[in-house]
Amino acid sequence: MNKVYIIDVTNRDGVQTAKLGLSKLEKTMINMYLNEMGIFQSEFGFPTTRHESLYLQANLELAEMGVLQPIRLSGWIRAIAGDVETAFKLVPNIRHLNLSISTSEQMIQSKFRGERTRSDILKMMVDAVEAARSHGAESIGANAEDASRTDINFLIEFGLKAKEHGADRLRYCDTLGYDDPFTIYETVKTLAENVGMPIELHCHSDLGMAVANSIAGAKGAIDGGQDAYINTTINGIGERAGNADLLAVILAIAKSKGFAKKYRLGRPIKLNKSWKTAKFASYAFGVPIPINQPGVGANAFAHASGIHADGVLKDPRNYELYSHTELGRGEPEFVETGREICAGEAYSGISGFRHVMGKMEVTFTDSSEAEEILELVRYSNVEAQKPLVEDELLFIAKYPQITKKLLTLKPLE
Ligand SMILES: [Zn+2]
Repeated sequence: MNKVYIIDVTNRDGVQTAKLGLSKLEKTMINMYLNEMGIFQSEFGFPTTRHESLYLQANLELAEMGVLQPIRLSGWIRAIAGDVETAFKLVPNIRHLNLSISTSEQMIQSKFRGERTRSDILKMMVDAVEAARSHGAESIGANAEDASRTDINFLIEFGLKAKEHGADRLRYCDTLGYDDPFTIYETVKTLAENVGMPIELHCHSDLGMAVANSIAGAKGAIDGGQDAYINTTINGIGERAGNADLLAVILAIAKSKGFAKKYRLGRPIKLNKSWKTAKFASYAFGVPIPINQPGVGANAFAHASGIHADGVLKDPRNYELYSHTELGRGEPEFVETGREICAGEAYSGISGFRHVMGKMEVTFTDSSEAEEILELVRYSNVEAQKPLVEDELLFIAKYPQITKKLLTLKPLE
């Protein structure tokens, strides 16, 4: 039986969200949380963007150290051979890539202004895939941007060409959120059968169907004889109306009527880490979690009506598909959100800082070590423009050299 794998794209599509962004430490923490949860892959950034280079390198170092393991870290770039060259020049250790190009007539005509034909698109993808392979890429996803508005025969041709030249997956991008569960199921099943390669589902929520489309598409891939990969973001954050929410996708596969016990996730997920992960992303992006968000919204387990409340008390299964404890909720609030540390005025003194860290059972060998960590905390504070949470402080204390890299923003030669 084929499986469903999760590729979270919070650190790529999530940070492309208008008016939002993350510090490099926050992006790193997101990778750490995704890894703890058991997520298969994190699309962790943009290897051709120079200010990402040190962050990407530092995270690959964490992977080599065994810290960011077993999660796969993959970069997103345009399907242009020159961009592949740049990516490997700036981030030589990158091993997993998604290469993206528009495939719909609408975009070929309007984005490329009639200067590119379908055969140009195929050639650009092939050249990019071959360049990535020659640089030692271990896995390559070929992204068809605007796939849901692309002629199916061209999409099949695109997938077959990419596969023939060494791609491992075809990413079906419903870039505008145009699909519905019925259309995406049929299209993806046809693609899986005709291309013979695992399919990635990349769905947006413009019509409110990103999660439903993702799992319907995954079913299409599996029924077509291939593994499915679903692109998610934490709390569904992403361009415009957002992407498929990570937790809702996992819950849909694990708990829904048609999927539970029938379809399997490629890696076991630690659901009890999802609360912490959602809370951190909300804090880092500065975007509150809607009160009715599946699993992690304030009201997700609130039962107001007398009949429901009574029913839940008799047996939670009367009105709940899953329990709040499964998701790691229910601890005291100060633990849930993480303690906030302002390294500005309040802890500018070294003894105050050592006291705070001591409460988290972090001790320093001498005062110069404490000073060094405090300095890194101050810089991280400045970059994030908000107080740090406990996990960030622990990270800085544990990996000061990596933190230095994350904080370094210097134009590379
Ligand atoms: Zn997207």
